Formats: sequence, C-alpha cells, structure tokens
Amino acid sequence: MTGEHFDVLIVGAGLSGIGAACRLRTRCPGSSFAILEARDDLGGTWDVFRYPGVRSDSEMFTLSYSFRPWTHAAAIAGGRAILTYIRDTAREFGVDRRIRYRCKVRSAAWSSAEARWTLEVETGPERRQARLTCGFLIVCAGYYSYEGGYRPDFPGVERFGGRIVDPQRWTDDVDYVGKRVLVIGSGATAVTIVPALARRAGHVVMLQRSPTYVIERASRDGVADALRTALPERLAFRLARWINIVVGAAFYRFCRRFPGAARWLLLARARDALGPGVDAAKHFTPRYEPWDQRLCLVPDGDLFRALRCGRASIVTDTIATFTETGVALAGGGTIEADVAIAATGLELQPLGGIRLSVDGAEVEPAETTVYKGAMLSGVPNLVFVFGYATAAWTLKADLVCLFACRLINRLKRRGSRQCAAQPGDPTMAKLPLVDFSSGAYRRAAAKMPKRGAKGPWASRQSYWRDFLTLRFAPLDDGALRFSGSAPATTARRDLGAAGAPRRPSAAR
Ligand SMILES: Cc1cc2nc3c(=O)[nH]c(=O)nc-3n(C[C@H](O)[C@H](O)[C@H](O)COP(=O)(O)OP(=O)(O)OC[C@H]3O[C@@H](n4cnc5c(N)ncnc54)[C@H](O)[C@@H]3O)c2cc1C
Repeated sequence: MTGEHFDVLIVGAGLSGIGAACRLRTRCPGSSFAILEARDDLGGTWDVFRYPGVRSDSEMFTLSYSFRPWTHAAAIAGGRAILTYIRDTAREFGVDRRIRYRCKVRSAAWSSAEARWTLEVETGPERRQARLTCGFLIVCAGYYSYEGGYRPDFPGVERFGGRIVDPQRWTDDVDYVGKRVLVIGSGATAVTIVPALARRAGHVVMLQRSPTYVIERASRDGVADALRTALPERLAFRLARWINIVVGAAFYRFCRRFPGAARWLLLARARDALGPGVDAAKHFTPRYEPWDQRLCLVPDGDLFRALRCGRASIVTDTIATFTETGVALAGGGTIEADVAIAATGLELQPLGGIRLSVDGAEVEPAETTVYKGAMLSGVPNLVFVFGYATAAWTLKADLVCLFACRLINRLKRRGSRQCAAQPGDPTMAKLPLVDFSSGAYRRAAAKMPKRGAKGPWASRQSYWRDFLTLRFAPLDDGALRFSGSAPATTARRDLGAAGAPRRPSAAR
C-alpha cells in the first residue's frame, strides 16, 4: 500500500464517509479515491453501538441520505436497520470496494511544494506503518473517540461487586435479565437503554445528576406513510424529508425564541405521559433552556411507559460513593444493583485524532477557525464533516460532501493546486463550535476548532443558510483562496500530484 497516490482520500467509513464516497462517484467521476477505515467493518456509530434498544433519535427521512430513500416503515430506526441501510448504499454505489479496512490514519502532512497530503497509516492487526498520498482529504471520522465513552471518577468504584458496563463496548455477555440494573446518566443513551433493559431486567433505576428535556414522538410518521401510499417512492421520500426539515427547524426556532413556552410544553407532555406516580417537575425540568443541550427523543413514549408501569424508576441525585452492592447517594439514599451502566457520555475528539501539519508546522485544531463549518483556517485541500447537533447529522454532512465535490472540481477545472480559507479579520471573536452546555462539549471545548462571529466563519446550525452557502455561494468569496497552477498536462488528470506522475491505484 505504501506509495499509492489518490486524487482524494476519505477517512472513515461511517454514515458520512460512505455518503462522501457516493457523492464523489457521481459528482467527480474522474477522481481516484479510497476510504481509509480504522475498524474492520463499515457503519461507524451504527456498528460500534450494540446496546439493547440502540436507535436513532432523529427521524430517518433526514438522517438518511437525500439521494437514497429511506423506505422502512419506522421513522425512528434501530441501529441494525441503519447499519443495513449504510451497507446497502455502499454496495449499490460500488463504494464498498474502495474501503481499506484496518487502516487507522495517524497523521496527515500537507506540502505546498508538492500540493499533496501525505498520510501515515497504521494497517492490519500488526499495525504496520504505511504512507499514502492524496491531493484532497475528506475527514469523516465522526466526533468522538472510539476508545470508549467518558467515565467520571466514581468514588469507591473498586468496591463494587457487580459489573460496570460502558454502553460503547456492550457485548452479548452482559447479563441483565432478571437483575437489578442501575443506569447512570440522563442523555440520549440513558433514555434509550432504560426502556429496552426494563423489558427483561428485574428492575432498572435511571440515576441522573440533573434532568434533561425529553420529548415523545411516534416511531412511525403518519404523514410520510400517507405520502407513500399516494405517491411514487422517491417523490414521497423527498416530500417527507422536506416536511421534516421544515418542522424540525421550526420547532428549534420556537424553542430558542420562546424558551418559557417551550419549557412549559415539554414538561406538560412529560407530565401527561408519566401520570401521577412520577414527579415530572423534579425529574424532567432541567436547569437550562430547551436546546442549550440536545433534546432527548423517546419513540412512542417508551421511557415514560417504563417509568409509569414501574418496571423502571428515576432518581435525581449524585453518587456519594459506590458500595459493594450498589451506590450511596449524596442525598442520603442507596440504590442496590447487580449491573451498572455508565451512560455518562462520549469523549469528544475532533478529526479522528489525526495529527495535522501544514508545510512542517503542526496544526492545533483548537487554534483554527472553521470556514462554512467544513474547512479549518489555514489548512489547504481538507474538508471535514461535523454534522448538526440540533438536527440530523446527515443534513450537514451531505452539504459538506457536496461542497468538497465543488472544490475538487473547481481545482481540476482551473488547474489550481490548492485552496485554503483564511479569516481576513484577525480580531474576529472566536466562539465554541457547538454552543451546547452539556458535559461532553464543555470537556472538549479546549480541543475543538472554533467558529467565528460573522460571514462564512459563523457556523450557525442552520440548514437553510448552509444549503445556500455550501451549495450555491460563489467559491471566490475573499476568504477562500485558490493558488498555484498545475502543469497543463497533469492538471486535468490529477489535481494533487501536479508535476508528478500518478501511480496506478488499486482502489480505482
Ligand atoms: C448511539 C448514538 C446515536 C446517535 N443517533 C443520532 C441520531 O439519531 N441523529 C443524528 O443526527 N445523530 C446521531 N448520532 C450522531 C452520529 O454519530 C451521527 O449521526 C453519524 O452516525 C455520524 O456518522 P459519521 O460517519 O460522521 O461518524 P461515525 O459514525 O463516528 O464514523 C466515523 C468512522 O471513522 C472511523 N475513524 C475515526 N477515526 C479514524 C482514523 N483516524 N482513521 C481511520 N478511520 C477513522 C471510525 O472507525 C468510524 O468508522 C448518534 C450517535 C450515537 C453515538
């Protein structure tokens, strides 16, 4: 593998990487490319997470690709169904053959003189070093570490006689049937796993330090179902997708504009679903405003039902210490448990942990500013995917991949060697990339790239704005600079290896 050169390399074969590859095939048909995937299968998140009940918390009309209809009945889908969808898409577009498994990218170094990236890659179980080059890099490595989830330092944890499980490393031998299960956390994983475990566990306790907004939604989409019966599949999907984009964006705007009303509405719905036996005000009224953190969605109110019928219960308190048989709480009580699930969040990691350098100088992602939510300031010929936190990830991912295709085609067409974005105003304020107050984002703030306060640097979690700026706004906007020209003979064939003959690539 060492020495191979590609026009484009994609890092990651998850939802975004497969989407990027499909877009490259159709929009940049002459470009050679491969996907480098650290694991031994595709699917990313949807292959890694295997805990009972794992599912989307966005509806699938916007989490699926715009170019390949989601045809399942369920609008909120299980992890396996999503994995199958990604796998089928990869096969249908012939991009499964371009994946190099067990290739973990460790570093990527840009050389302006050669106008190419050199990637240091660990391959195979023996972690052999290989070196690949490309003219353009698309990083679709997700947003969290694959080494495992975040676990706080629980006092006394070594005394606990039961098993503590990281949901990111769930295996089939986790024995919870008939057992007393403690789920620690209040985020998306906790609200998903509690009702799923409650079906077969003796009893499940969800222990949260503080409440989260939880919203109920039907797992089937009635409007989409009606459209499907009346219209051809592709048209019905498109309409259902746009309706969900509009409704989702309107609900987000409503919550941000009228937080008091949104808070009241969310609590009222939770109270109705829970009935009088559960203190909704205590356990479902967060200290923050709706959408200061991601809203947790529960399909068909499954969490509320589990709590209402007593198969699960909820406690809002903090752990004073683990004991031999469970936990003692700061508020004075105890919870006995055979198994504890640490649903305490993800460890966020920008750009798959890849060390970047440009012309020999290390790039610290936290010191860069994000251009159009897709490029890092001063880093040429690199686009990265970081999807929406307030809507389906794929909506942004797909716009970013289309933008990457525009750049690649433009470089080729004009024979330029590189393009990089640079803020003109050094005094522009730098803000957190995602303005969430949740622990995962606060913990990672120091290592994440920043967004700017204005213009193409202000990444605003708005599909409409991004739709216009990433798809249609002129590429020559003053911030993005194209430079160098490739020798005429090679410019059209090989955007990265200007002046150097391209080696044949096995993945073509
Ligand atoms: C349990 C769970 C549920 C979620 N549900 C939703 C939802 O309903 N809606 C939503 O919008 N978002 C959701 N998300 C966010 C979710 O991660 C995205 O929707 C989406 O799956 C991300 O796809 P991705 O391909 O960008 O990243 P990932 O799925 O994380 O895939 C990244 C891939 O890159 C590979 N990789 C990483 N680093 C390297 C490297 N250095 N070298 C080579 N390969 C590398 C990984 O092995 C992995 O295969 C959820 C996340 C989790 C954890």
